[in-house]
Amino acid sequence: MTTRGLRVELGGGVILHGVDLTVEAGEWVAIIGPNGAGKSTLLNAVTGLVPATGVASLFGRDVRRMRHRERARVVAMVVQSPVVPPGVTVLDYVLLGRTPYIPRFGRESAADLDVVREVLVRLELRDFADRVLPTLSGGELQRVFLARALAQEARLLLLDEPTSALDIGHQQEVLDLVDTLRRDRGLTVLTTMHDLSIAGAYADRVVLLAGGRVVASGTPPEVITESMIATHYQARVRVVDTEDGPLVVPIRTP
Ligand code: ADP
Ligand code: MG
Repeated sequence: MTTRGLRVELGGGVILHGVDLTVEAGEWVAIIGPNGAGKSTLLNAVTGLVPATGVASLFGRDVRRMRHRERARVVAMVVQSPVVPPGVTVLDYVLLGRTPYIPRFGRESAADLDVVREVLVRLELRDFADRVLPTLSGGELQRVFLARALAQEARLLLLDEPTSALDIGHQQEVLDLVDTLRRDRGLTVLTTMHDLSIAGAYADRVVLLAGGRVVASGTPPEVITESMIATHYQARVRVVDTEDGPLVVPIRTP
């Protein structure tokens, strides 16, 4: 996945000022940056959800030249706050991920249902299959949103703050699962992340976005530094190097 000079204007303001970003096949890249930096807008522009100028290409193809179904087979996204449709069961919701494979006026096949069942098992959602979405907890819902995206079987997975509603155990479970899928199936992963320690632990590369511009890009220890965080988040932190990546600890104001 590549962007070159990706520029987005919304509501009369420039939100992304020409972003250059490359995510290699099989790579996991985390976009970090303060609130309002343009992280969600960047993901939305990559999938064509918001109008952008410049280049956005998926595995060598211009996103804007791909038809909707075709694009949906290549890229799956979980937005930051997905709509929770009332009265829809978990099974039916996850089945929506199969839409790009189901003929226009046709029904899902046995193979589609198999994919959905496998995803439900992997995300420990089998017991929830018949529950309607509004009855689920925040963490359960987050897993359902991810399940829909995984059922789509796309090569590129875009996750906008996938773990913000999850407790630490489920955060780990979901991110480990994404990492396993990346290794087993060669998925390419682009996520935005709030938790910098977690971003550093999972991503191969970290891109720091601030004010709609890429201000740093590199390995986690290169980007997640005390001075970068002080400059761009106005936060006082200590960064401790560990085997699993930089650990970011906020320093309490005396
Ligand atoms: P982040 O995900 O990094 O917190 P966003 O991409 O959601 O940031 O937003 C970046 C900036 O773009 C924010 O200042 C936000 O208010 C603005 N923005 C996002 N969507 C719109 C829109 N539809 N109209 C006007 N401004 C928008
Ligand atoms: Mg956002």
